[in-house]
Amino acid sequence: MILDDFSLKGKVAVVTGANTGLGQGMCVALAQAGAKVAGVARRSCEETASLIAKDGGEFFEVLADLSDTRNVPVILNTVLEKYGCVDILVNNAGIILREDAVNVTEEDWNKVINLNLNMVFLLSQAFARQYMKQGHGGKIVNVASMTSYQGGIRIPAYTSSKSAVLGLTRELANEWARFGINVNAIAPGYMATNNTAQLRDDEKRSGEILERIPAGRWGTPKDMAGAVVFLCSDAASYVHGFTVAVDGGWLAR
Ligand code: NAP
Repeated sequence: MILDDFSLKGKVAVVTGANTGLGQGMCVALAQAGAKVAGVARRSCEETASLIAKDGGEFFEVLADLSDTRNVPVILNTVLEKYGCVDILVNNAGIILREDAVNVTEEDWNKVINLNLNMVFLLSQAFARQYMKQGHGGKIVNVASMTSYQGGIRIPAYTSSKSAVLGLTRELANEWARFGINVNAIAPGYMATNNTAQLRDDEKRSGEILERIPAGRWGTPKDMAGAVVFLCSDAASYVHGFTVAVDGGWLAR
Protein backbone atom coordinates (compact mmCIF):
# COMPACT_ATOMS: atom_id res chain seq x y z
CA MET A 1 0.00 0.00 0.00
CA ILE A 2 1.23 3.47 -0.86
CA LEU A 3 1.54 4.83 2.68
CA ASP A 4 3.85 1.91 3.52
CA ASP A 5 6.27 3.29 0.94
CA PHE A 6 6.64 6.44 3.03
CA SER A 7 7.66 4.49 6.13
CA LEU A 8 11.30 4.71 7.22
CA LYS A 9 11.02 1.89 9.71
CA GLY A 10 14.38 0.21 10.24
CA LYS A 11 16.31 2.87 8.29
CA VAL A 12 19.34 4.66 9.74
CA ALA A 13 19.43 8.39 9.03
CA VAL A 14 22.19 10.94 9.62
CA VAL A 15 21.21 14.61 9.78
CA THR A 16 23.80 17.37 10.07
CA GLY A 17 22.97 20.52 12.01
CA ALA A 18 20.61 18.60 14.25
CA ASN A 19 20.37 20.69 17.41
CA THR A 20 18.07 23.46 16.21
CA GLY A 21 16.09 24.92 13.32
CA LEU A 22 15.39 22.97 10.14
CA GLY A 23 17.77 20.14 11.05
CA GLN A 24 15.94 19.58 14.32
CA GLY A 25 12.58 19.62 12.49
CA MET A 26 13.84 17.06 9.97
CA CYS A 27 15.26 14.79 12.72
CA VAL A 28 11.87 14.75 14.42
CA ALA A 29 10.08 14.02 11.13
CA LEU A 30 12.44 11.18 10.14
CA ALA A 31 12.14 9.63 13.59
CA GLN A 32 8.33 9.89 13.47
CA ALA A 33 8.48 8.05 10.14
CA GLY A 34 10.37 5.22 11.88
CA ALA A 35 14.05 5.97 11.22
CA LYS A 36 16.80 5.69 13.82
CA VAL A 37 18.34 9.16 13.67
CA ALA A 38 21.94 10.20 14.31
CA GLY A 39 22.21 13.97 14.64
CA VAL A 40 25.47 15.81 14.01
CA ALA A 41 26.31 19.22 15.49
CA ARG A 42 29.01 20.99 17.48
CA ARG A 43 26.73 21.84 20.40
CA SER A 44 24.50 19.39 22.23
CA CYS A 45 21.38 18.00 20.54
CA GLU A 46 19.64 17.49 23.88
CA GLU A 47 16.48 19.35 22.83
CA THR A 48 16.18 17.28 19.64
CA ALA A 49 16.74 14.08 21.62
CA SER A 50 13.96 14.93 24.06
CA LEU A 51 11.49 15.90 21.28
CA ILE A 52 12.12 12.52 19.64
CA ALA A 53 11.99 10.60 22.92
CA LYS A 54 8.56 12.13 23.57
CA ASP A 55 7.30 10.43 20.39
CA GLY A 56 9.01 7.15 21.36
CA GLY A 57 11.61 7.49 18.59
CA GLU A 58 15.33 6.72 18.53
CA PHE A 59 18.05 9.38 18.37
CA PHE A 60 21.69 9.71 19.22
CA GLU A 61 24.05 12.62 18.80
CA VAL A 62 27.45 12.77 17.16
CA LEU A 63 29.30 15.87 18.29
CA ALA A 64 31.59 16.98 15.48
CA ASP A 65 32.80 20.19 13.89
CA LEU A 66 31.94 20.04 10.21
CA SER A 67 34.49 22.69 9.35
CA ASP A 68 37.12 19.98 9.87
CA THR A 69 37.08 17.48 7.00
CA ARG A 70 38.83 14.89 9.19
CA ASN A 71 35.45 14.43 10.85
CA VAL A 72 33.89 12.90 7.72
CA PRO A 73 35.13 9.34 8.44
CA VAL A 74 34.64 9.88 12.17
CA ILE A 75 30.92 10.60 11.68
CA LEU A 76 30.36 7.70 9.31
CA ASN A 77 32.29 5.23 11.48
CA THR A 78 30.54 6.32 14.66
CA VAL A 79 27.15 5.63 13.07
CA LEU A 80 28.34 2.32 11.57
CA GLU A 81 29.67 1.19 14.95
CA LYS A 82 26.30 1.90 16.54
CA TYR A 83 23.94 0.58 13.84
CA GLY A 84 26.06 -1.40 11.38
CA CYS A 85 24.70 0.39 8.31
CA VAL A 86 23.43 3.75 7.02
CA ASP A 87 20.57 4.50 4.65
CA ILE A 88 19.95 8.24 4.68
CA LEU A 89 22.13 11.37 4.77
CA VAL A 90 20.58 14.82 5.15
CA ASN A 91 23.19 17.52 4.50
CA ASN A 92 21.52 20.31 6.44
CA ALA A 93 24.22 22.13 8.44
CA GLY A 94 24.98 25.51 6.95
CA ILE A 95 25.94 29.05 7.86
CA ILE A 96 25.19 32.46 6.44
CA LEU A 97 27.46 35.48 6.93
CA ARG A 98 25.98 38.84 5.92
CA GLU A 99 28.35 41.52 4.64
CA ASP A 100 28.67 43.82 1.62
CA ALA A 101 30.52 41.88 -1.09
CA VAL A 102 33.30 44.50 -1.21
CA ASN A 103 34.09 43.86 2.47
CA VAL A 104 33.92 40.05 2.66
CA THR A 105 37.19 38.60 3.93
CA GLU A 106 38.83 35.56 2.39
CA GLU A 107 38.50 33.82 5.74
CA ASP A 108 34.74 34.34 5.90
CA TRP A 109 34.33 33.35 2.25
CA ASN A 110 36.16 30.08 2.92
CA LYS A 111 34.24 29.40 6.13
CA VAL A 112 30.92 29.46 4.28
CA ILE A 113 32.09 27.55 1.20
CA ASN A 114 33.81 24.90 3.31
CA LEU A 115 30.75 24.09 5.37
CA ASN A 116 27.93 24.73 2.88
CA LEU A 117 29.57 23.15 -0.17
CA ASN A 118 32.82 21.27 0.42
CA MET A 119 31.44 19.34 3.38
CA VAL A 120 28.24 18.51 1.49
CA PHE A 121 30.35 16.93 -1.25
CA LEU A 122 32.73 15.08 1.07
CA LEU A 123 29.97 13.64 3.27
CA SER A 124 27.94 12.66 0.19
CA GLN A 125 30.98 10.93 -1.29
CA ALA A 126 31.72 9.01 1.92
CA PHE A 127 28.10 7.93 2.30
CA ALA A 128 27.76 6.97 -1.38
CA ARG A 129 30.85 4.75 -1.06
CA GLN A 130 29.25 3.09 1.96
CA TYR A 131 25.88 2.69 0.15
CA MET A 132 27.72 1.05 -2.77
CA LYS A 133 29.48 -1.28 -0.34
CA GLN A 134 26.18 -2.20 1.33
CA GLY A 135 24.68 -2.84 -2.12
CA HIS A 136 21.09 -1.70 -1.61
CA GLY A 137 21.14 1.97 -2.50
CA GLY A 138 20.57 4.90 -0.20
CA LYS A 139 19.28 8.45 0.05
CA ILE A 140 21.02 11.81 0.11
CA VAL A 141 19.03 14.99 0.67
CA ASN A 142 20.86 18.31 0.45
CA VAL A 143 19.52 21.57 1.78
CA ALA A 144 19.57 24.26 -0.89
CA SER A 145 17.93 27.70 -0.66
CA MET A 146 16.07 30.40 -2.56
CA THR A 147 19.61 31.62 -3.35
CA SER A 148 20.03 28.45 -5.41
CA TYR A 149 17.79 30.33 -7.86
CA GLN A 150 18.18 34.00 -6.95
CA GLY A 151 21.11 36.27 -6.20
CA GLY A 152 20.25 37.52 -2.74
CA ILE A 153 22.18 40.48 -1.37
CA ARG A 154 25.11 40.86 1.07
CA ILE A 155 25.61 37.07 1.10
CA PRO A 156 27.95 36.34 -1.85
CA ALA A 157 29.53 33.19 -0.39
CA TYR A 158 26.19 31.83 0.79
CA THR A 159 24.55 32.38 -2.61
CA SER A 160 27.52 30.78 -4.35
CA SER A 161 27.43 27.77 -2.05
CA LYS A 162 23.68 27.22 -2.35
CA SER A 163 23.66 27.67 -6.13
CA ALA A 164 26.42 25.06 -6.24
CA VAL A 165 24.45 22.70 -4.01
CA LEU A 166 21.68 22.64 -6.63
CA GLY A 167 24.17 21.80 -9.38
CA LEU A 168 26.00 19.25 -7.25
CA THR A 169 22.69 17.55 -6.45
CA ARG A 170 22.04 17.07 -10.17
CA GLU A 171 25.60 15.94 -10.89
CA LEU A 172 25.74 13.34 -8.13
CA ALA A 173 22.30 12.05 -9.12
CA ASN A 174 23.57 11.49 -12.65
CA GLU A 175 26.51 9.44 -11.38
CA TRP A 176 24.82 7.49 -8.60
CA ALA A 177 21.22 6.84 -9.73
CA ARG A 178 22.31 3.56 -11.30
CA PHE A 179 23.45 2.37 -7.87
CA GLY A 180 19.97 2.97 -6.44
CA ILE A 181 21.19 6.11 -4.69
CA ASN A 182 18.73 9.00 -4.78
CA VAL A 183 20.35 12.42 -4.52
CA ASN A 184 17.85 15.25 -4.20
CA ALA A 185 17.56 18.56 -2.39
CA ILE A 186 15.06 20.73 -0.58
CA ALA A 187 15.13 24.49 -1.11
CA PRO A 188 13.52 26.10 1.92
CA GLY A 189 12.06 29.56 1.55
CA TYR A 190 12.21 32.07 4.39
CA MET A 191 12.02 30.01 7.57
CA ALA A 192 11.90 31.21 11.16
CA THR A 193 15.19 29.90 12.62
CA ASN A 194 18.47 31.35 13.99
CA ASN A 195 19.68 31.65 10.40
CA THR A 196 17.10 34.37 9.69
CA ALA A 197 16.99 36.01 13.15
CA GLN A 198 18.84 39.08 11.84
CA LEU A 199 16.41 39.46 8.93
CA ARG A 200 13.34 39.00 11.10
CA ASP A 201 14.66 41.56 13.60
CA ASP A 202 14.85 44.13 10.80
CA GLU A 203 11.24 45.36 10.69
CA LYS A 204 11.52 46.81 7.20
CA ARG A 205 13.18 43.77 5.58
CA SER A 206 10.94 41.40 7.48
CA GLY A 207 7.82 43.25 6.28
CA GLU A 208 9.03 43.25 2.66
CA ILE A 209 9.75 39.52 2.79
CA LEU A 210 6.44 38.62 4.38
CA GLU A 211 4.54 40.64 1.84
CA ARG A 212 6.18 38.67 -0.99
CA ILE A 213 5.44 35.20 0.41
CA PRO A 214 2.16 34.01 -1.13
CA ALA A 215 1.43 31.85 1.93
CA GLY A 216 1.65 35.01 4.04
CA ARG A 217 3.89 33.60 6.78
CA TRP A 218 7.47 32.53 7.50
CA GLY A 219 8.08 28.80 7.20
CA THR A 220 8.81 26.63 10.24
CA PRO A 221 11.00 23.55 10.80
CA LYS A 222 7.81 21.46 10.73
CA ASP A 223 7.16 22.59 7.16
CA MET A 224 10.21 20.55 6.08
CA ALA A 225 8.70 17.29 7.39
CA GLY A 226 6.67 16.11 4.39
CA ALA A 227 9.37 16.81 1.80
CA VAL A 228 12.21 15.21 3.74
CA VAL A 229 10.29 12.06 4.64
CA PHE A 230 9.14 11.70 1.02
CA LEU A 231 12.64 12.14 -0.43
CA CYS A 232 14.13 9.71 2.10
CA SER A 233 11.49 7.06 1.45
CA ASP A 234 10.80 4.34 -1.13
CA ALA A 235 8.01 6.57 -2.44
CA ALA A 236 10.74 8.71 -4.02
CA SER A 237 12.75 5.85 -5.49
CA TYR A 238 12.49 7.24 -9.06
CA VAL A 239 13.12 10.87 -8.06
CA HIS A 240 16.70 11.82 -8.89
CA GLY A 241 18.55 15.14 -8.96
CA PHE A 242 15.56 17.32 -8.18
CA THR A 243 15.34 20.26 -5.79
CA VAL A 244 11.96 20.61 -4.13
CA ALA A 245 11.05 24.11 -2.98
CA VAL A 246 9.33 24.37 0.40
CA ASP A 247 8.85 28.10 0.21
CA GLY A 248 5.25 29.14 0.76
CA GLY A 249 5.09 29.93 -2.97
CA TRP A 250 8.08 32.37 -3.02
CA LEU A 251 9.47 31.04 -6.32
CA ALA A 252 6.06 30.96 -7.95
CA ARG A 253 5.77 34.72 -7.55
P1 NAP B 1 20.46 27.33 12.08
O1 NAP B 1 19.22 27.44 12.91
O2 NAP B 1 21.44 28.43 12.10
O3 NAP B 1 21.18 25.95 12.42
C1 NAP B 1 22.38 25.61 11.80
C2 NAP B 1 22.79 24.22 12.21
O4 NAP B 1 24.02 23.92 11.58
C3 NAP B 1 22.99 24.08 13.70
O5 NAP B 1 22.53 22.84 14.13
C4 NAP B 1 24.51 24.14 13.84
O6 NAP B 1 25.01 23.39 14.93
C5 NAP B 1 24.95 23.48 12.56
N1 NAP B 1 26.31 23.88 12.23
C6 NAP B 1 26.75 25.09 11.83
N2 NAP B 1 28.09 25.08 11.70
C7 NAP B 1 28.49 23.83 12.02
C8 NAP B 1 29.76 23.20 12.07
N3 NAP B 1 30.90 23.83 11.75
N4 NAP B 1 29.81 21.91 12.47
C9 NAP B 1 28.69 21.25 12.80
N5 NAP B 1 27.47 21.79 12.76
C10 NAP B 1 27.37 23.06 12.37
O7 NAP B 1 20.06 27.17 10.55
P2 NAP B 1 18.72 26.71 9.82
O8 NAP B 1 17.95 27.91 9.47
O9 NAP B 1 18.06 25.61 10.56
O10 NAP B 1 19.35 26.21 8.47
C11 NAP B 1 19.62 24.86 8.18
C12 NAP B 1 19.97 24.75 6.72
O11 NAP B 1 18.93 25.29 5.93
C13 NAP B 1 21.22 25.53 6.33
O12 NAP B 1 21.94 24.85 5.33
C14 NAP B 1 20.65 26.82 5.76
O13 NAP B 1 21.51 27.45 4.88
C15 NAP B 1 19.43 26.28 5.07
N6 NAP B 1 18.40 27.27 4.80
C16 NAP B 1 17.78 27.94 5.80
C17 NAP B 1 16.79 28.87 5.49
C18 NAP B 1 16.07 29.66 6.53
O14 NAP B 1 15.28 30.54 6.17
N7 NAP B 1 16.25 29.42 7.80
C19 NAP B 1 16.43 29.08 4.16
C20 NAP B 1 17.09 28.37 3.18
C21 NAP B 1 18.05 27.46 3.50
P3 NAP B 1 25.95 24.11 16.06
O15 NAP B 1 25.01 24.97 16.82
O16 NAP B 1 26.47 22.99 16.85
O17 NAP B 1 26.98 24.88 15.31
